[in-house]
Amino acid sequence: MWWHISFATRYSSHRLSGVLFLDELPEFSRTAMEVMRQPIENGAITISRAAGTLSYPCSVMLVCAMNPCPCGFYGHPTRKCTCPSGAPARYLSKVSGPLLDRLDIHIEVPQVNFRELSDTEQAESSEEIRKRVNAARSIQQKRFEGTGITCNAKMTPAMTRRYCPLSGEASAMLEKAFERLGLSARAYDKVLKVARTIADLDNSEGIQTRHLAEAIQYRSLDRKFWQNA
Ligand SMILES: [Zn+2]
Repeated sequence: MWWHISFATRYSSHRLSGVLFLDELPEFSRTAMEVMRQPIENGAITISRAAGTLSYPCSVMLVCAMNPCPCGFYGHPTRKCTCPSGAPARYLSKVSGPLLDRLDIHIEVPQVNFRELSDTEQAESSEEIRKRVNAARSIQQKRFEGTGITCNAKMTPAMTRRYCPLSGEASAMLEKAFERLGLSARAYDKVLKVARTIADLDNSEGIQTRHLAEAIQYRSLDRKFWQNA
């Protein structure tokens, strides 16, 4: 696939879990996708059988990828989508709004061009990224000492208000984004948690407007595709 739209929930572990990667998300049945909503939300899966009900920990990092339409070129800057009229909308509608809303980060991954492929400049190595991530995790562990949680992803709405204060300027930016993007209350919390994490990765005590702007940008992909299909 030359082009993917990827979504991820930030890592929130009960230390037994890993990454659940669903490639070609719209190919999964609607029921399979909807049934994931509860585990994503609660970090647990409940199975009911005649003999009883059991709950298992199920706090994975969920990563999904998909094309924007069956041919893969819908919304492409230079190639033409060859799908019959209405096909991109039907394809995108297989992924529901409520499921999209539960995913923290939406990223469009455009095609790599020749210049980028032949670029000899070294990108940041995994080793360096690991160091930055570990440093951000230590900040979070210290922040939540004694609260029963260890990372930003696990904050309750009340904790989000407490640990993610915004300056007047940032608050106004978030309010504007809310009106423009029509975000839900769930998305509001997610934007704040992602902004807090971006600030931690930047080793910044407060959430700056640039951190918030980046977090808001991770909520805008569905507006580009789902609302225009
Ligand atoms: Zn197409």
